[in-house]
Amino acid sequence: MKKIQMKTPLVEMDGDEMTRILWKWIKEELILPFVDLKTLYFDLGLEEREKTKDQITLDAANAAKEYGVSVKCATITPNAQRVEEYHLSQMWKSPNGTIRAVLDGTVFRTPIMVDFIRPAVRNWKRPITIARHAYGDVYKATEYRVPAPGRAELLFTDETGKETFRQTVYDFECPGVLQSMYNKDSSIVSFAHSCFRYALSTGQDLWFSTKDTISKQYDQTFKLIFQDLYEKDYKDAFEKAGITYFYTLIDDAVARVIRSEGGYIWACKNYDGDVMSDMVSTAFGSLAMMTSVLVSPNGQFEYEAAHGTVTRHYYRYLKGEETSTNPMATIFAWSGALRKRGELDDLPELCRYADALEQACFRTLNDHYMTRDLAGLVDPGTPVHSVSSREFLAKIRENLTLLLGRNPE
Ligand code: NAP
Ligand code: MG
Repeated sequence: MKKIQMKTPLVEMDGDEMTRILWKWIKEELILPFVDLKTLYFDLGLEEREKTKDQITLDAANAAKEYGVSVKCATITPNAQRVEEYHLSQMWKSPNGTIRAVLDGTVFRTPIMVDFIRPAVRNWKRPITIARHAYGDVYKATEYRVPAPGRAELLFTDETGKETFRQTVYDFECPGVLQSMYNKDSSIVSFAHSCFRYALSTGQDLWFSTKDTISKQYDQTFKLIFQDLYEKDYKDAFEKAGITYFYTLIDDAVARVIRSEGGYIWACKNYDGDVMSDMVSTAFGSLAMMTSVLVSPNGQFEYEAAHGTVTRHYYRYLKGEETSTNPMATIFAWSGALRKRGELDDLPELCRYADALEQACFRTLNDHYMTRDLAGLVDPGTPVHSVSSREFLAKIRENLTLLLGRNPE
């Protein structure tokens, strides 16, 4: 049997620790036997980042931009302890931050749902994808602990040095706190484009929420930019695709999300997205079942798992123990990237392979073979075969072989 052919290579970014081990196994067991895989390989493992003074990350990000579809393994973001552990010359920046800066993208997180792990919210039947605007707001705020009575003002000086705005924030009669934050139209526009594009790309409704009734300049600007862009660039495409764009106040959105069946994208401002994504992912079950895709305003896609490098499991693996680390989110990063490549290059066989790979995972889980993290989450009464990562991948491979109706080469 001939392997499935590709046209354009995927940009492949390898990573660290346990996820690096899973990465290799997933390729060996589930991809290379079936697909004539073409990738541009970048090793973003911490040792290679140190060796190249992090140039490798920038090269990978630029390739991701040039080629349009990439898949990334989880990587270590160094802290002081890692600097010691890996003898680093510098505390290299988060690769995800570097890639996001180059692609100017928005991250969309979606849970993988299985029948026997019920979300904490009973009526959620389909995944809810959260899109978080990851720029500015409270994360770039300037703050001051007001020590004593005095006046706080908001002041804006234009490029020529002329004061064009000054307003009293508060006349403090006692100690207090003060904060100022900002955002940029250009960043909000990018965020909006990424959200509209991803909604079209996945055929799902897009919800957006802010608190514009209270924040009449700040949040109102977000609302208007989204509205303008929608009318101008996306309305027709949305109507043709049979999907809707829906704006509502954040409090109303929260109530509707809880009452909904799921199956849409919820775009949130930075802080809302930070909080709501943790709430939604916890309610769906497990970080190990959360996928993540970075979508640029120009339509570049970078797929990954939402979890990290699963360090504790890696240390056990190094001691020679079999670990039961869940590879689902990393497999879905590959299937997502390969399907997107198939769509863009008009390779239906590659898309079918990606579908089959995901279906093989679901069949394996529905036969109740699962890694240990999931075994603890199942509905009472569900039979459980708790297996190691290797055993789990072997089961998926059996199912994939059946689904594709052929033996691998
Ligand atoms: P983590 O790797 O996501 O793991 C946290 C814990 O969650 C694990 O110890 C494990 O719990 C559980 N877990 C996560 N993924 C799992 C999986 N696939 N299967 C089974 N259990 C899973 O987060 P972390 O420990 O905070 O971070 C570790 C490293 O990852 C750090 O160096 C951090 O910089 C990096 N990181 C990278 C990314 C990224 O590249 N996107 C994201 C986050 C963190 P038990 O140990 O209890 O089984
Ligand atoms: Mg958070």
